[in-house]
Amino acid sequence: MHVGGEVDVRSAYCAASVASLTNIITPTLFEGTPSWILRCQNWEGGLGGVPGLEAHGGYTFCGMAAMVILGKEHMLDLKSLLRWVTSRQMRLEGGFQGRCNKLVDGCYSFWQAGLLPLLHRALFKEGDSTLSMTSWMFEQQALQEYILLCCQNPAGGLLDKPGKSRDFYHTCYCLSGLSIAQHFGSRDFHHELILGKEENRLAPTHPVYNICPDKVAQAIEHFHQLPVPEQKEAAADAPDVS
Ligand SMILES: [Zn+2]
Repeated sequence: MHVGGEVDVRSAYCAASVASLTNIITPTLFEGTPSWILRCQNWEGGLGGVPGLEAHGGYTFCGMAAMVILGKEHMLDLKSLLRWVTSRQMRLEGGFQGRCNKLVDGCYSFWQAGLLPLLHRALFKEGDSTLSMTSWMFEQQALQEYILLCCQNPAGGLLDKPGKSRDFYHTCYCLSGLSIAQHFGSRDFHHELILGKEENRLAPTHPVYNICPDKVAQAIEHFHQLPVPEQKEAAADAPDVS
């Protein structure tokens, strides 16, 4: 994260996210990063924070999203990642757990379910013809039921699980996961599954950056007009993440 400080895959994602949106990626900036992220994927199929650690939803999203930004997602074992993440949606609760044998938690509605759009796109790029054209590879309705029925505080805000208090972190990631569960596809190809009333409908969120897609487009439009610091030729390598 900084010289002499902690090292983990969250910082790789933050750096890749900011650098890609602001168009400052040079050929050397992320040299070695994809192969290091690759070492974070373990026998379970998910990724740990650093090589050798237990697979964890938050770290797995960060690692996969960073690989997508850097255009190297095909280096990961996508099928074992798919098996791991789909096994984290809990049969009774409908929400996701962060790690094997842990309890359900609303914030993994994004960290885990958010992996499915990334996996769908990566497997589509590899020519997988068995992919659905209407839904992600998780139970979208069951996740919406968990978030709407179990994670709302009647006074406003969302939470980890019933009995816990509301907070901004869980409110953000429950809503982000709810958006993923409601909207399949992209701008060109869109299929909705909205549980309950029309007022439950959220805006789609960008599967890599988790901000509204028009904000991503605005950032790319603005920063890609500016020169890349020092090495202008790097712009040709910038991955298409719109
Ligand atoms: Zn949580």
